Amino acid sequence: MDKAPTFAIHTLGCKLNYSESSTIAKKLAEEGFEKIAFKEKADVYIINTCSVTNEADKECRFIVRSVLNNAPGAFIAIIGCYAQLKPEEISKIEGVDLVLGASEKFNIATYLKDLDKKAQTEVHSCEIEQPLTFHSAFSSGDRTRSFLKLQDGCDYNCSYCTIPLARGKSRSDTIENAVKNVYEIANRGVKEIVLTGVNLGDFGISDPNSSEHIKSFYELVKALDNTDADVRFRISSIEPNLLKNEIIEYVAQSKKFVPHFHIPLQSGSDEILKKMRRRYLRDLYVDRVAQIKSLMPHCCIGVDVIVGFPGETDEHFNETYKFLSELDISYLHVFTYSERNNTLAAESKDVVPMDVRRKRNRMLHILSEKKLRHFYQQNSGTEQTVLFEAVSKDGFLYGYTGNYVKVKQAFSPELMHSSARVRLTTINDDGTVAAEIISSEQFHLQENLLATT
Ligand code: SF4
Repeated sequence: MDKAPTFAIHTLGCKLNYSESSTIAKKLAEEGFEKIAFKEKADVYIINTCSVTNEADKECRFIVRSVLNNAPGAFIAIIGCYAQLKPEEISKIEGVDLVLGASEKFNIATYLKDLDKKAQTEVHSCEIEQPLTFHSAFSSGDRTRSFLKLQDGCDYNCSYCTIPLARGKSRSDTIENAVKNVYEIANRGVKEIVLTGVNLGDFGISDPNSSEHIKSFYELVKALDNTDADVRFRISSIEPNLLKNEIIEYVAQSKKFVPHFHIPLQSGSDEILKKMRRRYLRDLYVDRVAQIKSLMPHCCIGVDVIVGFPGETDEHFNETYKFLSELDISYLHVFTYSERNNTLAAESKDVVPMDVRRKRNRMLHILSEKKLRHFYQQNSGTEQTVLFEAVSKDGFLYGYTGNYVKVKQAFSPELMHSSARVRLTTINDDGTVAAEIISSEQFHLQENLLATT
């Protein structure tokens, strides 16, 4: 081929997938491929899949079909969690040429030497029980924020989850490489780095083949905080049992780590937590929230909850609802339980009817809206630093405070992709918060400092 072969990549699922897609795209560019938009006609299409929804199969088929309609004869590769979990199923989708599992996806360039369509799909998946190498990655599609992958895989065995089967055992980056990546991201002008992993609090279980001293997530937090990169850090999500006091205390005094934690709870009933095989009970969660709020009263706390888990009776759900109502948290991410093949939970006969699951989901959504409104009201009148996004929408600019209050301002070019000191005022009808600009200067690292009127 005379001109550089072109490729396009489509990502489904979580932030980890997005960061990995960016890194795979960067590697392909280094190998002489040219990246183009997914809607254009490319030589190679890569679909980075997710296994979290049970729709993965349908979604994948649909995308393959639309690609072939647009570019018949294009080479199609499927990677990601669904590719690791169900390679045979994918190989039966007409038009798919290559399926790469968890370890091979980062070597995709070596499988793209011959781009002729294959009569039979080539499948390269791996034994997920084997120790896998850690591949570092960060997203680069957004100028304001980057998701930095620091940990992969999970050693827990929650009874509903297939992630350990799709991503393998827990493994982490080294602190040295994490610091190096932070500088690289900051040098691109990105101003917020979101620390990302499957089970981030488990950071430090290093490559078993390496002799490196095992480090903890706390040590990582300190090392990143001590860089002089002009960025702020947000922790994407951390298991409550791994969110130690020392981490909370450190974040409370940090000028770079923002006061925002996202802590999966999943259920407010101890009985259900045990069935889920979570590694804590509700008292521990109460303790974590109390500890955070005692040191950072303005801290934003987000909570993941699953409704309709097998065996969740009305009493269990009411227990969860009451628990969350009384807890000083800021918003919920509500998931409706859906059965996954090869999990213990999916074998249970105690199935909750789908309409009940949906009703519970709606109830928690409404509770989440109330919680968020209350949190925004508590922040009204405070002075904070907002990091505005690099793109405007309908004549407005949006940005987030360190403690994750979503602020909306009329568009002004000097605010774009910059930070400003503001005073939060009222809640807009669309749920965002209005603010008065105090000063729009260069980014400064004062996220934890709030001044109330
Ligand atoms: S902690 Fe549980 S839910 Fe989270 S990835 Fe690991 S097994 Fe899945």
